[in-house]
Amino acid sequence: MEFISLGRDHDIGASCHFLHIDDIGILLDAGADPNEEGPASLPDFSPIQHRQVDHVMVSHAHHDHIGSLPAVNARWPMARLHLTHASQSLTTLMLYASERLQQRKYYEGSSPFPALFDEEDLDDVFDMFHSHPYNRTFPLDTKKTAAEFYYSGHLLGATGVLITTAENQRIFYTSDTRSEDQTIIPGGKYPSAPVDVLIMESTLGADPVAETVTRPEEEIRFAHQLKAVLDRGGSVLIPVFMLGRAQEILALLGRFKDERILDPKTPIYTAGGLREVSRIYDAFRNSTPRIDPDFEVYSVDQIRFPRTRKARQKAFSRPGIHVLASGMMIERTLSHQIAMEFLEHEQHAIFFVGFAKEDLPSGKLLHAAQSGAEGIILSHERGMQPIACEVDRFRFSGHAHRKELTELAVSLQPKTIILIHGQTDAKKWLKEELRQHCPDTRILIPSQGEKTSIVLR
Ligand SMILES: [Zn+2]
Ligand SMILES: [Zn+2]
Repeated sequence: MEFISLGRDHDIGASCHFLHIDDIGILLDAGADPNEEGPASLPDFSPIQHRQVDHVMVSHAHHDHIGSLPAVNARWPMARLHLTHASQSLTTLMLYASERLQQRKYYEGSSPFPALFDEEDLDDVFDMFHSHPYNRTFPLDTKKTAAEFYYSGHLLGATGVLITTAENQRIFYTSDTRSEDQTIIPGGKYPSAPVDVLIMESTLGADPVAETVTRPEEEIRFAHQLKAVLDRGGSVLIPVFMLGRAQEILALLGRFKDERILDPKTPIYTAGGLREVSRIYDAFRNSTPRIDPDFEVYSVDQIRFPRTRKARQKAFSRPGIHVLASGMMIERTLSHQIAMEFLEHEQHAIFFVGFAKEDLPSGKLLHAAQSGAEGIILSHERGMQPIACEVDRFRFSGHAHRKELTELAVSLQPKTIILIHGQTDAKKWLKEELRQHCPDTRILIPSQGEKTSIVLR
């Protein structure tokens, strides 16, 4: 077996890995780097430019796993794109949204790069979709090589992929995964042991706090902090990823209202694409794993976030909760604009509920607030602003913390572990930990473009 990582190796960038096995070329995901624009956001395909890609396994619809599907389809138009039914709906929505966003940025002048693809390119991508249910094998060639999806617990439609070779060796790709329950989405399910090769994510590998926080305790803390802000007449901004985190948080807010921890009349505002994603969550509630199949995201009352300045000021004049994208508070998004509004008012709060990357506005604000900085520049047009509002972070990740990842790896008894999709520190920590738990296992941290050969026996 041959393995090559094509995305940046020191960070969570574009997730895309090439696998050559039984004379078949397989890509595990085809992501784009959300922190880059234009061609720099794509994986570096040069190490495989003369190779054949027959199949692409699309693990879930986050941009860092699907954003380069059009580029892959342009290079290898015959490659089949395998995904779950729910991921097919979400990926379609997310790629259209990405195309519109790239067009808008180019025409507004905020990006120098024309969109990497257009709607016609997307039609070609969608023509190559092959959707599969969980736990049903599908062939990858005319011999015996096959794949099977394992529900991965990260978000709606997300899957791990088990590939079985003609010689019956087993390679398992976790992609992004979480084994513990969230509010809507239950924890993931994994293949039986042993597997020969485990290709595992490491997002939270350098986060020592994540494993010390229990979800029920964090939910109580979140509910009480929300209530305190609303009781003093303030409003709360919750910046969220439109896919996954938004729906989980809305479900949690709905539960707080049902339990009367929050006043059921508290207005909850949502906007844009996350509302469309919520509809897809609801449409698949009876056909995908759920904690409560009867729960609908739209059963949580939501008001469309107002477009005009005057209407927004009116909304902010009474206590409310604003669940708005983007999660990282990227410039020009609604969460970024509203954060600048809230920052100078001590009755308001900004609560982060997901991964806050240090070099992006969410991470910068969190760091500034935690270190007691008096001000921050969120936009150069606006300049330095004092941080008067409350800023906090709650851990409701869709990723497994590092102890969970270690347990998963140990339980699968792999001969080889390939650590991917995490910052360098995260992968190093996991490598050290796993070396102690699985002394006979070969543990690899491949560099971008490095070809690794693994003898399967
Ligand atoms: Zn993800
Ligand atoms: Zn990811």
